[in-house]
Amino acid sequence: MPRNIMIVLAGANLLLSCDDAPKNHMVNQKINVSAPADVEVRDEHSETIHEGLVRVNLDSLGFINDMVYATQNNFTRQQIYPCPECYLRDEVARALLQANQLAQKQKLRIIIYDCFRPISLQQKMYDLVQNPDYVAHPKNGSKHNRGCAVDVGLADFDGKPLNMGTQFDDFSENAHYINTRPNSQERKNRKILRDLMLEAKFLPYEKEWWHFNFNRTDFPTSNFQWNCN
Ligand SMILES: [Zn+2]
Repeated sequence: MPRNIMIVLAGANLLLSCDDAPKNHMVNQKINVSAPADVEVRDEHSETIHEGLVRVNLDSLGFINDMVYATQNNFTRQQIYPCPECYLRDEVARALLQANQLAQKQKLRIIIYDCFRPISLQQKMYDLVQNPDYVAHPKNGSKHNRGCAVDVGLADFDGKPLNMGTQFDDFSENAHYINTRPNSQERKNRKILRDLMLEAKFLPYEKEWWHFNFNRTDFPTSNFQWNCN
């Protein structure tokens, strides 16, 4: 049996043991078989698996790591995460890698602003902001708390961000995808990002040009806290 297929099956078993949501192994296998290079993600770069979440090694995979909640440079003005690590559901991580490979064909790189967010840190953000328009109430949990949403932007190969018309986490209407205030180049940049995320099986969110849910979201919330050592 080819090596990559063995790893795919191991991935399916891990999902079985870690995830109490309905399983869809066909989806998982389809993604892997159609993009065998993705197998390298688990093999070499996403070696750590906790509660069904894999660590995405942003640096070695060519992403721009700008996990803003691991700094004070975010709308809460507080450091929420202990360090800038990106964890996602296995199939979501693979799709994100595919999106970055599509970006690289256009001499672009994906900027990562946020990935999985532990439910207790969702509570921390909610307590700080106390505005459900800006931060979802932790009671039901968001897609970020399920490891199946990402906040992303685009940069050129040198890491210079492409202008999208607003900053990340701008909660004004200017951040709505269809808003016409951004100029034509900024709207074009939004479309490039959206098109490559859609091709990688993510779904857009109309009110935030940076937010994408994976096309499967039936995962449980998690309070997994990553180790910074
Ligand atoms: Zn988001």
